[in-house]
Amino acid sequence: MKENMLVLEMLLKNKMITRQNIAERSNEARRSGKSILDLLLKDRIVTQEKLVLIFHNEWGFELYDPHKDVLDPRVLPFFSKDQAKKNLVFPLHQEDEDQLTVLMADPTHEETLRNVKRIADKRLKILVAETDCIQGMIGKHYHQKYTNQESTDLLNPSESKETSPEPSIIAFVNDLIEEGVSQGASDIHVEAFPQKIRVRFRIDGVLKTVGQLNRETWKGAITRLKILGGCDIAEHRHPQDGAFSSIHEHRQIDVRLSIIPTIHGEKIVLRLLDQKKFLMSINELGFSNEQKQLLKEIMESPHGMLLVCGPTGSGKTTTLYSLLNGMDPRTQNIITIEDPVEFQMDDINQIQVNDKIGLNFANGLRAILRQDPNVIMVGEIRDEDTAETGIRAAITGHLVLSTIHTNNAVASINRLMDMKIPLYLLSAALRGVISQKLVKRLCPNCRKKEPASEAEKRLLGIADQDIELYYPVGCSLCHGTGYQGRIAVQEVLKITRRIREAISTGGDYETIRKVAIEEKFKPIEESLKHHLLLGNTSISQGLEILAFENEWHR
Ligand SMILES: [Zn+2]
Repeated sequence: MKENMLVLEMLLKNKMITRQNIAERSNEARRSGKSILDLLLKDRIVTQEKLVLIFHNEWGFELYDPHKDVLDPRVLPFFSKDQAKKNLVFPLHQEDEDQLTVLMADPTHEETLRNVKRIADKRLKILVAETDCIQGMIGKHYHQKYTNQESTDLLNPSESKETSPEPSIIAFVNDLIEEGVSQGASDIHVEAFPQKIRVRFRIDGVLKTVGQLNRETWKGAITRLKILGGCDIAEHRHPQDGAFSSIHEHRQIDVRLSIIPTIHGEKIVLRLLDQKKFLMSINELGFSNEQKQLLKEIMESPHGMLLVCGPTGSGKTTTLYSLLNGMDPRTQNIITIEDPVEFQMDDINQIQVNDKIGLNFANGLRAILRQDPNVIMVGEIRDEDTAETGIRAAITGHLVLSTIHTNNAVASINRLMDMKIPLYLLSAALRGVISQKLVKRLCPNCRKKEPASEAEKRLLGIADQDIELYYPVGCSLCHGTGYQGRIAVQEVLKITRRIREAISTGGDYETIRKVAIEEKFKPIEESLKHHLLLGNTSISQGLEILAFENEWHR
């Protein structure tokens, strides 16, 4: 896309970016065909919210207000879905015959504006909105097929069914997966009942009904999916598994297919493994600059152990994959042992744990050590054997990354002590611990800002200050929930000399934590407070973290 120099100049003028920020990205922009502005947004140097404000303050464009500016679906056909996506434009309503109100992400981009005018062929009234907001509206309103919850209409792949049934089923299955990916679903369920065939998406951990199918489409889809997944299409009575890949907006989506026979017919579950989700750069994982610096220092060490802890489903594996992705597999021998291998990485040797044949973390790890590795990733430390083998690998010249199921960084150290790891080994091996939790992200489209209550301020330990926090509201973009997606909050504990001493003398939780705080360790609630003040999440989402951490303070 052609660079919008106007916006870059304006960002410079407002001191939101530096000339160096631009210079650093010019090569990548040329290579990738993306604009420098896109790259600045991707690296979060500029946020979408601030960009929108620049358009408002500097050019006087009105901001989109979902409560005031309502959608009239009759104007949707002014743009096709592709045109809307390509130009990041969304038609909202028509006040009179000649004028069309549209949302745009960058109304100062000349080429885009020309395109939009040409396609609409009307006078435009432009409201600015964040890219995510516009993409969300396009995804929702240009795909009524699957998103109309109350609708009793049966989904039909297409009208041309009689003439050529095959292409329409293929298109239907592609659409279904694409819709799941664009809504951020982790799983797609297609279930048969006597009266209906239901389609549900699991989004942010919650199943949501998105539509119904007629029997013919359902049967066609099962056959198509079985072919894609390499299953037996004639088999209807036994459970079957399969896997295939599909490309969605230039990135690979690995799909795991599971089919089980229920009394009303075969139930399909598609698990969508989105490469983008697993390979987020460290910049996107929600670490603060300070935390990134600590991580860099930890990872610079050629040997030792780095642990990621947190509850199940807190994105520990994503963090590990992202750390591995930052390494150079051409000069290093990187081997993983995982259960399961969630994402296949280029140039990295990945081993799948297999209990049936006795291949577990501990003996797999011992075999890896005979393969001259530099970096080893062990999916999870669950038992003493794995813990000790991993620790020994870490002090004999290997960098070992793993996860452990504990509640916070310091508790991981005590867990390893409980696993009877000799203290001298543990203190020598451990380089750092990341603790991570996921909280729901406030919908940026509808969140509201209000003064915090006394109780909330007390909870945050800032009773004497007047602060404002953000609260969920609910709009069409977030399906009335007030939240969209999740963000990670973290703490990064770097093992310093003093902490190492505390470990080697068998310090308990309180002792090690006290030393860590003296060594400038920032517990997870600091990171949470940062996100709360930025409006990334709400205090109700952070309650569990705050309550838990406060307990330890007393
Ligand atoms: Zn919302």
